[in-house]
Amino acid sequence: MAFTTKKQFIAGVTCPKCAQMDKILAFSENGINYRECVSCGFKDEMRLSSAPRELETRVNTSADEVASQTQPVKLMDPKG
Ligand SMILES: [Zn+2]
Repeated sequence: MAFTTKKQFIAGVTCPKCAQMDKILAFSENGINYRECVSCGFKDEMRLSSAPRELETRVNTSADEVASQTQPVKLMDPKG
């Protein structure tokens, strides 16, 4: 499962740069998921995890790279 190339908002997500909520767009580009903030222009590769607490305790580790390759996507269904 991956995001489509069509940008769509993710409800309830806060921008890590400007801390604005509901400003994050998610989209897929070349098979990679990205998030982009429409408020401040922040753009980053989106590393999805099924364990949110792991994101807080483990930052910038090789585990993130592995996760991005295997893509254990656990996110709300955009189709609702
Ligand atoms: Zn922002």
